[in-house]
Amino acid sequence: MEVTGLHKSFGDLEVLKGIDITVRGGEVVCVIGPSGSGKSTLLRCVNLLEEPTSGTVRVAGFEVTDPEVDIDRVRRRIGMVFQAFNLFPHLTTLGNLTLPQRRVLGRGRAEAEEVARGNLRRVGLTDKESSYPAQLSGGQQQRVAIARALSMGPELMLFDEPTSALDPELVGDVLAVMRRLAQEGMTMLVVTHEMSFAREVADRVVFMDAGAIVEEGPPEQVVGEPQQARTRAFLARVL
Ligand code: ADP
Ligand code: MG
Repeated sequence: MEVTGLHKSFGDLEVLKGIDITVRGGEVVCVIGPSGSGKSTLLRCVNLLEEPTSGTVRVAGFEVTDPEVDIDRVRRRIGMVFQAFNLFPHLTTLGNLTLPQRRVLGRGRAEAEEVARGNLRRVGLTDKESSYPAQLSGGQQQRVAIARALSMGPELMLFDEPTSALDPELVGDVLAVMRRLAQEGMTMLVVTHEMSFAREVADRVVFMDAGAIVEEGPPEQVVGEPQQARTRAFLARVL
C-alpha cells in the first residue's frame, strides 16, 4: 500500500494535510495518535469509504484513486475490521462468513464453507460456527469479523481500533489473533492504542497528530525514544 500526498477535507475542515505512508508486503504498520487526528479518515480513504480531496492511494498494484478503477475489485483485496463488529445479527457465524464470499466473489456454498472453516480455525472459533452474534462475547464477535474479512482473501488488512470496544479481559484474544496473522505474513495497517502490541508486532509505528504524520520509525524508536515533544506528550497520556 502506498499513500502519497493524501489530503482530505470535510467542508472547511482539513482533516488530512498531506499524508505519505507505505506498507510493504508482509509489513505491519501501527498508527497511533490522539482522538480526532485523522487516523480513521486515513484508513477510510485507503478503501475509498471516503473520497480523498487530493493525493494518490495504491493498493496491490491498483491505483485506488484513479477515477477509471473498478473500486469493487480493489475493495475485495482490502479487508477492514472496525471498532464495532458489524456482523449480520440474523446470520450464524458460518452465514456471516459465507454470505459475502457468495455475493461478492460468486463462490458456491461448499467452497465458501470450506474457506470459512479454515479461517474460523485461524481465529480459534471452530466450535462457534452455528452460533449467532448475540450468543458470542465481544471478543468472539470481533474474531468472527476478522475471519469474515480473511475469507475474502485480502492482500491488505486494515484495522481501526479493533479492541477499543472490548472489555479488558477480552482484548488479549483479539490481539493474539492479530499477532498470529502478522507472523503468517499478512500485510497490516493497524490503528491502535495498544502500545504493547505496537511495540511487539509492528515493523514501524506512525504517530499522527492534527492530520499530519509527526514521527515514524521502528517501535523501539517511536514508542521507546520519541524524538518529538508531541509524541512524548501523547505517550505520557496513554502509557
Ligand atoms: P481519529 O480516528 O484519529 O479519531 P477521525 O479520522 O475520525 O480521527 O476524525 C478526524 C476529524 O475529522 C475529526 O475532527 C472529525 O470530527 C472529522 N470528521 C471525520 N469524519 C467526518 C465527516 N464524515 N464529516 C465531517 N467531519 C468528519
Ligand atoms: Mg478513529
